[in-house]
Amino acid sequence: MKAIVLRAYGGPEQLHIDDAPDPKAGVGEVILRIRTTGLNHCDTDVRRGVFGVAQSFPHVMGVDGAGEVESVGPGVTGFKPGDRVMPHFMLACGVCRNCQRGQENICLDAGVLGVTTWGTYAERVKVRHNNLVRIPDALSFDDAVASAVPFATAWEGLIVMAGLRAGETVLVNAAGSGVGSAAIQIAKLAGARVIATTGTKAKFAQARALGADEVLDYTTDAIPDAVAALTGGYGADVCFDMVGGDRLIDCIGAVAQGGRIASVGAHGGEKIEIDFIELFRKHITLHGCGRSTKAIYADVLGLVAAGKLKPVIHRTFDLASAGEAHALMESRAFFGRMLLHP
Ligand SMILES: [Zn+2]
Repeated sequence: MKAIVLRAYGGPEQLHIDDAPDPKAGVGEVILRIRTTGLNHCDTDVRRGVFGVAQSFPHVMGVDGAGEVESVGPGVTGFKPGDRVMPHFMLACGVCRNCQRGQENICLDAGVLGVTTWGTYAERVKVRHNNLVRIPDALSFDDAVASAVPFATAWEGLIVMAGLRAGETVLVNAAGSGVGSAAIQIAKLAGARVIATTGTKAKFAQARALGADEVLDYTTDAIPDAVAALTGGYGADVCFDMVGGDRLIDCIGAVAQGGRIASVGAHGGEKIEIDFIELFRKHITLHGCGRSTKAIYADVLGLVAAGKLKPVIHRTFDLASAGEAHALMESRAFFGRMLLHP
């Protein structure tokens, strides 16, 4: 099969299309013919060798994608060739204490697709049958991939962890990112008022088009003051952040008394100094999250199929152009998701 075969860590120039051995399905495993692969920011970490989990080379990255079941191994009964499916990136074991509690997203023995196994930057991928989600017939593979990770991540953070309710005000950082653009839509669907932030004035109109009621520029606006001014001095009930660093500090300043912060990423600063006096005096709840369950995947795909949520696709590339797509992701000059077609 054709795949992007990583032979050493480094820049986008390390991403070459090459021949790789076809995967073979073992017991309980399914081979997917991948039709669409999604680019995620963590892919650039894997490529640079800073994800925190070492790969053995050659390696095929790619944490999400969608396609048809091509073949199944012994013991697979729930899926058959031709079924339209997508793997969940958390390769949960299904038997540990957390899996048995229905919390497979914090499985104690999970692999990560494209990180601990070969992933979806390829024509085929091997996945265990218990790590698959069905794609509604109404959704194209592109829409399914553009939707699943961002909407599921935002849903878990906003609805499940932070408990967002109708009538509340939400601050959403990085409005132009895949997860940020998804969080704006989910917050609006939940009946909340959305204040979005971006560092690029050119993204204001796009954020408003997705439903943001207010948009702030974190490079020029003092976010806590601006949010206070927009909320009668109260602050935001919920803050949703995937940047970390100064943007998470903004959230601590901007969140209301008794407010909740959902933190799902930290590419903008992994180690920060937090004023815990502010944290406990304001009764702030800080939720670390960012991995959804398969059930949330299924729920958000259903909402996209029903037209309640709209995936935002910046651009699609041939698989061979993965390096160009990585360079664009690292430039931040995009709005929504980038997809690859193996
Ligand atoms: Zn488990």
